[in-house]
Amino acid sequence: MTAVLEALVEGLELDVDGDELVAAQRCVDRLAAKLALAYGDFDAHQLWDLDGATSMTAWLRDRGAMASGDAARTVATGSRLRRLPVTAAAALDATLSGGQLKAVLANVSERTEERFAGHEAELVASLAALSVRQCAQAMRWWAMRAEDDADEAEPRPEPPSKLSLSRSLGGRWRLDAELGPLDGEVLDTALRLAQGFDADEADTARSPAQRRAEALGEICRGYLQRRDQPAGSRHRPHVNVIVHLDDLLARRGGECPDATVIDGASLGALSCDSVLHRVLVAGRSTVLDYGTSTRTISANLFAALVGRDRHCRFPGCDRPASWCEAHHVVHVADGGATCPSNLVLVCSRHHHRLHQPGWSATLGEEAELVVSDPNGRHRTSHPPGHSPRPPPEVLAA
Ligand SMILES: [Zn+2]
Ligand SMILES: [Zn+2]
Repeated sequence: MTAVLEALVEGLELDVDGDELVAAQRCVDRLAAKLALAYGDFDAHQLWDLDGATSMTAWLRDRGAMASGDAARTVATGSRLRRLPVTAAAALDATLSGGQLKAVLANVSERTEERFAGHEAELVASLAALSVRQCAQAMRWWAMRAEDDADEAEPRPEPPSKLSLSRSLGGRWRLDAELGPLDGEVLDTALRLAQGFDADEADTARSPAQRRAEALGEICRGYLQRRDQPAGSRHRPHVNVIVHLDDLLARRGGECPDATVIDGASLGALSCDSVLHRVLVAGRSTVLDYGTSTRTISANLFAALVGRDRHCRFPGCDRPASWCEAHHVVHVADGGATCPSNLVLVCSRHHHRLHQPGWSATLGEEAELVVSDPNGRHRTSHPPGHSPRPPPEVLAA
C-alpha cells in the first residue's frame, strides 16, 4: 500500500498556484489523520514492544525519527481520535482542517472527553465553519464550561506559567516562557506600551523582536527604580477585558479584544480592583450607550488599606503592599461595598486564589481576615499592629 503512496509522492509535480497548494495541504491533513489513527491502533496493541521500545512515544522518536514534542503529540492525537469517531471522520474527510483538529484536541482533556463525545456531532458541525482562530476560541469557552461542570467541588487545575532565563557561553541570555492567558496578556500589553507609539520611520531599522527585547529591559528597569517608592503609589496593569453582565454575575470568564479567553477566577480578581467601563450593547454589534469609567478602588482608599494591612493579608504571606491588590471580600457583583470594611490587601497570587471555586474569606470588625479553603479549613490573619489581644487571665498574670 505504501508503495503506491511513495510512487504518488515521487511523481507529484506541484504547480506554484494558490488553489493547488491549498488542495495539496488538505490531502496532507487527511493523510495525517489517517496516520494518527493507525498509530493509535499500533499503540493500543502495544506493537512498539515488538521492537523493544519502552513506549509509543519512544518508538516514534526512534523508528519514526520524530522530535520528542511531535512524538508525544502524535500519540495523544492517535489515542484521542480512536475514542472520538465523529471528530476522526471529520478529519479524515477534511471537514475539519489539520489546524481546526489541533484547536479541538488541545481543548479536550481527560476530564471533559466524555462530555465532548456526548455532543460530538453538533460540536464538530458548528466548528467546521469557523476559522482556526475562532475554532480555538470557541473550544476554549466550551472547555471552560465543561471543566466547571466536570467537578464542581474540585477547583480546575490550571497549568502554571513557566519562564526560564539562562546565560549562554557567549555571555548572552536566553529567555523562554510559556504563560497562562492572563500572564501572557499582561506581558503583551506591557511590552506594547513600553515600545511607545513614537516609533518614527527611522525606527524600522529595528525589528519587532528587537523592539520587544528593549521594551522588556525598559519595564524591568522601571520596576527596579520604583521599588523603593512608598507603598501606596501603584501601577496597575492595563488589560482590557470584555465581559457580559450575566457572565460576570455567574463567575464565568470574559475575553480580551484579541479573543484571548480569561477564566472566571482571573476575571474575578481583575474586576475586584480595576477601572470599569459600562457599555450597553444590543445583539453583537450595536452600542446603545456607554458610561464614564469608574475606578473601583481610588488611590486614597488604596493608601488607607496599605496603612491598615501593610502587606498581603493572606494567612502566612508577607509580600509587600507594592505587590498587592485590593480584594472585595463580598464581590461587587454580589453587592459588596467598596469601603475598608469590605476590602483587604492581597498579593496577586493570593488574590487569584481567593477567586477560585471553593475559596472564601470574611473580614471581621478588627479587620481580622478568616480564609476558608475548599476542604473547609479556616485560617486567620490580623493586621500588623493589631495583634489579637491576649485573654484577660494572661494580662493579669
Ligand atoms: Zn478580589
Ligand atoms: Zn500573598
